[in-house]
Amino acid sequence: MTTLSIHNPANGEKIADVPADDAASVAAKTARARAAQAGWAARPLADRKECIARFRDGVVRDLEKLAVTMTRETGKPISMSRNELNGLLGRLDFFVGMVEPVTATETVYDEGGMRERIEHVPLGVVGNISAWNYPWFVSCNVIVPALLTGNAVLYKPSEYATLTGLEIARLLHEAGVPEDVFQPLVGAGPVGASLLEQKLDGLFFTGSYATGTRIAQVIGPRFVKLQLELGGKDPTYVCDDADPKTAAESLADGAMYNTGQSCCSVERIYVHEKIHDAFLAAFVETVKGFKVGDPMDEATYIGAITRTPQLDVLDAQVADAQAKGAQLHTGGQRLRGPGNWYAPTVFSNVDHRMELMREESFGPIIGIQKVGGDEEAVALMNDTRYGLTAGVYTPDVARAERLLSRLHAGSLYWNCCDRVSPRLPWSGFGDSGIGITLSTYGIEAFTRPRAWHMRTA
Ligand code: NAD
Repeated sequence: MTTLSIHNPANGEKIADVPADDAASVAAKTARARAAQAGWAARPLADRKECIARFRDGVVRDLEKLAVTMTRETGKPISMSRNELNGLLGRLDFFVGMVEPVTATETVYDEGGMRERIEHVPLGVVGNISAWNYPWFVSCNVIVPALLTGNAVLYKPSEYATLTGLEIARLLHEAGVPEDVFQPLVGAGPVGASLLEQKLDGLFFTGSYATGTRIAQVIGPRFVKLQLELGGKDPTYVCDDADPKTAAESLADGAMYNTGQSCCSVERIYVHEKIHDAFLAAFVETVKGFKVGDPMDEATYIGAITRTPQLDVLDAQVADAQAKGAQLHTGGQRLRGPGNWYAPTVFSNVDHRMELMREESFGPIIGIQKVGGDEEAVALMNDTRYGLTAGVYTPDVARAERLLSRLHAGSLYWNCCDRVSPRLPWSGFGDSGIGITLSTYGIEAFTRPRAWHMRTA
């Protein structure tokens, strides 16, 4: 049997060898999921909701153990692992509370002997190929509404968050979700590729643009529901009337939280020339105050870089920015191991010739560009192929709304950043993906609306 080795990115030590899937086991699991799905869908919705409520109880009960597991395999600071698990509870409550109103059968017309009805039926067997950076959030955004609406789920956690994925499976099974209805698949890219070869009714992916493109090429011609939640190059503009210190502290957190490894991390900052210098000074001071170190330490703010190859991406962006005239204020290099470490890095005097301002960094590194006014800021913010989030800092809500409505992004932030809400749709414009998770749309996504035409007289 093949195994997957799990390493701690903060010190390079091996944590575990886990039995892994292969093409044959993926096919066998898919067949079992297919056989089990109809029975699960036939259960009363109240039963499925109770399973998720018990799953929530398990998360609360085991929260500390789950946080430690996540921190050990991803290098996420322990305080942020706890935050993710506590934040998950509100998402679970939203899904459990909203599944019934969203999926209830609705009579939309009943006149002249004709009744018309919309019914929501589950897609069937769905695959979820997931990322490691917020392994509970991104998987449960898919798994939970999929199960609530009566689907069977084949879930491939990232190879960098496998132990967390197996904990999710354990808790769902303990909560009463049948083993065949929810099955984890262990392995790296090739196991994900094997899943794509199966007969699926939906494929929900969270990860990089590069992998998303490959998945779209395989799934696209098969008329299977496909959702892709991909990366971004999320911009923020700080207007001349904003308080530079308040904005700097908020945006330093938005850029560096989770060691900059968030899909909605602030990745580009544009600052009006009138307050640029004050903003930059406050930003650099805030970043220099971030504690870098052992992710198990309560006080740590900057943890490890989860994937070793990302260090090369960060090095290349730094070298390219410096070669093209950017000014480095702090960081700019790897930190000594063992493990994967990068110093929090701030550049000013950047522009759009630089990779740092064009391609996702996914690390604790940021470029701050001076702009002459609102028009220049809007043009620069929209100068991207991505479109996940975008923000504006100003005390003037009318100015913020005017600017934000012109931005090409799925989520808009006024005086805040790096924020996700269960009540709002999460989606990307452009190369940030297709489809929606969260909100009522992110429940509907796991169903097919079926039309009933009924002659009553
Ligand atoms: P990744 O694309 O490297 O891997 C994602 C998943 O795809 C993993 O489970 C991996 O094993 C699998 N995979 C790799 N090759 C495959 C193949 N050929 N066929 C099928 N599956 C394959 O991404 P990652 O490093 O795990 O995640 C980081 C990326 O995810 C960043 O770009 C980030 O912005 C993005 N992300 C987006 C969101 C969002 O909501 N939009 C949320 C979190 C992360």
